[in-house]
Amino acid sequence: MTGVWDLAVVGAGPAGAAAARAAAEAGARVLLLEKAEIPRYKRCGGGLIGPAQRALADSGVDVSGLARDLVGRFTFTHRGGRAFTREAVPFLPMVLRSELDATLVGLAREAGTELTTGVTVGAYAEQDGLVTLGTSGGPVLARAVVAADGSASRASAYVGVHCDLVDIGLEAELPRPPGSDWDGHVLLDWGPVPGSYGWVFPKGDVLTVGVIGSRDQGPAMRDYYRAFVASLGLDLGTAIHDGGHQTRVRTAGSPLRRGQVLVAGDAAGLLEPWTREGISFALRSGRLAGLAAVGELPSYEQAVESVLGAEVAAGRRALAVFTRRPGVVHRVMRTPPLWPLLQELVSGRTTMADQLERRRVRWLVSLVE
Ligand SMILES: Cc1cc2nc3c(=O)[nH]c(=O)nc-3n(C[C@H](O)[C@H](O)[C@H](O)COP(=O)(O)OP(=O)(O)OC[C@H]3O[C@@H](n4cnc5c(N)ncnc54)[C@H](O)[C@@H]3O)c2cc1C
Repeated sequence: MTGVWDLAVVGAGPAGAAAARAAAEAGARVLLLEKAEIPRYKRCGGGLIGPAQRALADSGVDVSGLARDLVGRFTFTHRGGRAFTREAVPFLPMVLRSELDATLVGLAREAGTELTTGVTVGAYAEQDGLVTLGTSGGPVLARAVVAADGSASRASAYVGVHCDLVDIGLEAELPRPPGSDWDGHVLLDWGPVPGSYGWVFPKGDVLTVGVIGSRDQGPAMRDYYRAFVASLGLDLGTAIHDGGHQTRVRTAGSPLRRGQVLVAGDAAGLLEPWTREGISFALRSGRLAGLAAVGELPSYEQAVESVLGAEVAAGRRALAVFTRRPGVVHRVMRTPPLWPLLQELVSGRTTMADQLERRRVRWLVSLVE
């Protein structure tokens, strides 16, 4: 870790790996610091929507090789009832994050990134054009830093990131019961806590079962989690992993850098507010941060705001409608025209931001509101 690095990247999730790879490919000397050992477990549904699939394909990642399942059947429920199912040619890959993230780190290393694991970064300081990182393995000096240390980021306090939507995700990875009907099949349940939902995501011989909703509603979210898992006939006592992880969404205009320290992915609060999808945001913001940090992109802030900012704003609008009227949203989704639209949204052929520009969609949203 000695010497002066062109770029130090903190955190080897999708945002950090994408940043390190982009900068290393641009010819920079890059050090990637990760507190865990790789591969590491990350609590996550592992659903790859269209923009994530595209970002991965553009980086040469074979998504189909990583997919543990390919989903085409969706069952929707509202508080466990009023179920309806829609089917299409399978189009939503499910991955294990340990496998996806290890692949991305491997690509960053192939591009020339130096990886150091088992090192925790605790402090940030800048002087005379150099950033000093205080780490558990001693100080690290770099001309620029991309902090991609996730939703409990230490760097975000240094940068002054402000998040006004903070959620708790409770999730278990469970062995798939023999004979159960989860191949290529996802369940989404609109929950009892305003703005919450639950899911079952299949990944070969395991199922990821979770709920997400406001952190302020912690006890109610835990009740929802236990009741949801039990309603599926599953037993948390058999879980391979079981626990909670926070997610957060940045307030519009929240800073993305301080001096030569840039934040990306969850550390920056870049997340789709309704679905809490974050892999595509991490991959895209990480790459932009890596390029900007080594002078290959004029303005990180502008690049993020122009694409990801619009998607976050549209997601906030969707979340507001869903929080106030989950039952109406459920009924509207059941109508025939909504299924093709949902497929387009999930597969990334359109975005919520684009849809909210359409007169008919605006009319429908204001009707629900
Ligand atoms: C329950 C749940 C389900 C989700 N499901 C989905 C889903 O299905 N699809 C989707 O797209 N998104 C989902 N998300 C969101 C997604 O997991 C995140 O948005 C994504 O992981 C963000 O990637 P990242 O690289 O920014 O951070 P992370 O993936 O969190 O990576 C951060 C890395 O930094 C390391 N680190 C942290 N602190 C330090 C430190 N001080 N020093 C050194 N290293 C450090 C960590 O060990 C970690 O490896 C889900 C989130 C939750 C909580």
